[in-house]
Amino acid sequence: MNYKRSSALFAQAEKVIPGGVNSPVRAFKAVGGTPIFVKEAKGAYLYDEDGNKFIDYINSWGPMILGHAYDPVVNAVIEKAKKGTSFGMPTEIETKIAELAVSMVPNIDKIRFVNSGTEACMSAIRLARGYTGKDKIIKFAGCYHGHSDSFLIQAGSGAITFGSPNSPGVTQGTAKDTLLAKYNDIENVKSVINANKGEIACIIIEPVAGNMGCIPPKEDFLQGLRDLCDMHGLLLIFDEVMTGFRLAKGGAQELYNINADIVCYGKVIGGGLPVGAFAAREEIMNYLAPLGPVYQAGTLSGNPLAMAAGLAMLETLNNDTELFGRLAEKTAYLHKGFTKVLNENKTSHTINRVGSMISIHFAEDQVIDFETSVKGNNETFKKFFHGMLQEGIYIAPSAFETWFITDALTYEDLDATIAAVKKVTSKF
Ligand SMILES: *Cc1c(COP(=O)(O)O)cnc(C)c1O
Repeated sequence: MNYKRSSALFAQAEKVIPGGVNSPVRAFKAVGGTPIFVKEAKGAYLYDEDGNKFIDYINSWGPMILGHAYDPVVNAVIEKAKKGTSFGMPTEIETKIAELAVSMVPNIDKIRFVNSGTEACMSAIRLARGYTGKDKIIKFAGCYHGHSDSFLIQAGSGAITFGSPNSPGVTQGTAKDTLLAKYNDIENVKSVINANKGEIACIIIEPVAGNMGCIPPKEDFLQGLRDLCDMHGLLLIFDEVMTGFRLAKGGAQELYNINADIVCYGKVIGGGLPVGAFAAREEIMNYLAPLGPVYQAGTLSGNPLAMAAGLAMLETLNNDTELFGRLAEKTAYLHKGFTKVLNENKTSHTINRVGSMISIHFAEDQVIDFETSVKGNNETFKKFFHGMLQEGIYIAPSAFETWFITDALTYEDLDATIAAVKKVTSKF
């Protein structure tokens, strides 16, 4: 495959955009080489600026669960745009999408729309702090909740001690209020709570982790968190930016039958436009301005184009009763195919899957948390990534991302993908 035009465009971009990209993970830093510039996409396929075609397993990092340029979403945006693109005043469509979202998701009464998943998570912890009057939060090593200061904290000095910033610019003052715990380790969470009694507002978690590869919660782990939160008066925040409207209509809350106190959304909820949201029961949401004291705002929040795209997306997800089952079947089909060819090629691997999220880890042992995820062989992943690219399969340029399965994928596409994995790993 030739990437001449992409390379030239990247060189041009690098001069005026830091690293040539507007979000770091788009650069090929972890895998080497230069990023591919997209020209257009339709359904399951991406077409780049050099005329190459790829089967897409990123799908804009999750939103395009029905495939690219899905007609009802595109048409809704076009029709809305003709009537004005932003007013900064209330519009009926905001209530429509809010009503639909609230009806699809368990245990929420009210929802507020923002412009990104980052904003949703950042606002959710502010709300939790305002509501409980406590400052500290617990997050899990390896979970991603967007790029706001409180979340850019890495493990390192142990879970019970203060987190340390992993990005310059995050102050020690902020870092000390973020406590780190180990994913899938309820005893560890207990000890973090016990060491900080009376100071913690909330626990925030990706109920299925998707930012260290796909890592399912161990049986009873989420229920364990729910119980600990109830026992100690903490709010449980599910960051469902990735899992919301993907694993089920009601996301992970529905799939695992656990109620969170605040839920964050992004990705799918915007149908590919910049949308995030956070939601909770009435008594918590009423703490937000203008009803309550916790301030949160946005000039473009609830933007009509974004709401039109999101509404068209949610309507399809709500009406197509077989969609989530179909997605899970396609993903299970891939899982089975990958296992077969990787075993044939004697490639050490672990595959994790929940619903339409799946990841291949080039690691011998089970991958259950951050520590076990980083044990995967990154050199193998790099070869795998570039090999798959040559075969016309686009996966995330990082070993720590899940694959996002879309309904636009046909079984032919899946077979082609399994054949590509077979061919690429046969050379390892
Ligand atoms: C993508 C993601 C975010 C951040 O959303 P942005 O829209 O990129 O700001 C937050 N949490 C999770 C779980 C995500 O996957």
